Amino acid sequence: MAEPPGFCYILHETDSSPFCIEQCSSNILPCKSPVYIQLSEVWKSEAMRRTSCLVKVFYIHMKESTNMLYVTDYSLKTLQSYSIIQVSNACDFPAKLSSLTERAILILRDVFLSQGELHADEYTSISLPGDMLQIDSSMNREISRLQQVAIDVTDIHKGVTENDLCIIKGHISEVDEDSAYSWEACVHCGSDQLQGDSSQGITKCLTCKKTMEEPSTKMKMEVIVTCEKSDIQAKVDLLQMTIENLLPADEMDEEGYELSSVLSKKIGPLKCVVLSSNSDTFILKEIDLLK
Ligand SMILES: [Zn+2]
Repeated sequence: MAEPPGFCYILHETDSSPFCIEQCSSNILPCKSPVYIQLSEVWKSEAMRRTSCLVKVFYIHMKESTNMLYVTDYSLKTLQSYSIIQVSNACDFPAKLSSLTERAILILRDVFLSQGELHADEYTSISLPGDMLQIDSSMNREISRLQQVAIDVTDIHKGVTENDLCIIKGHISEVDEDSAYSWEACVHCGSDQLQGDSSQGITKCLTCKKTMEEPSTKMKMEVIVTCEKSDIQAKVDLLQMTIENLLPADEMDEEGYELSSVLSKKIGPLKCVVLSSNSDTFILKEIDLLK
């Protein structure tokens, strides 16, 4: 078990549970303000000891069991200039984070190190500066300083492991035909549960109940990329935008695309997350970092 968190709970009244709150004239609980330390210091802290830090988040990997925050600050200067924070499902993950499109500063309270990984659990607080009741001037300075921090993702190399970020550039040496397909999706919510009325040119989404004149076409394609500079080959699950750039619109016919047309095409640099790496086999997923 990690040590207890450094915050106390604040009870508040709701309509369903009215209870009487009286303000105390003095502090009855000694509640210490958190001390924010740099990420490099967090890594040096004792295992299971809770620490707090201000970080800049530039990618969020949503998974079923845990979400992963890819964060950095100006103290990380090693080959890997970012840290991954494993956020358990029990942690109160602000809804705003799931829809974040830009890099943001996060205030992390009571994260802890366990078995060489940084963790956030139900006793961790993750907040955006805008959610804080009070931000003092020194924290404001830290926030401005963090906003200047750049993120550096390195080229793929033989040492990458699961969840690492890397950049790949090369040419397409193979297309996984079994994994290539396209489907129609709702332009409003992305659902594939559509009901069409082709005579009227109206499609209805069974999920969000909205209608549209024309659904959007989603595509999936996995290719083997042979790197330019090294002898590394990796299978990459491509983003829609990259697939669209590979497949000229005029090549689409009733039977879909001729996949062989993408063979030998140059591709990248693509930013990717490593899904698995096993001696010389790398499975990557192309991602968009937050802007
Ligand atoms: Zn919909």
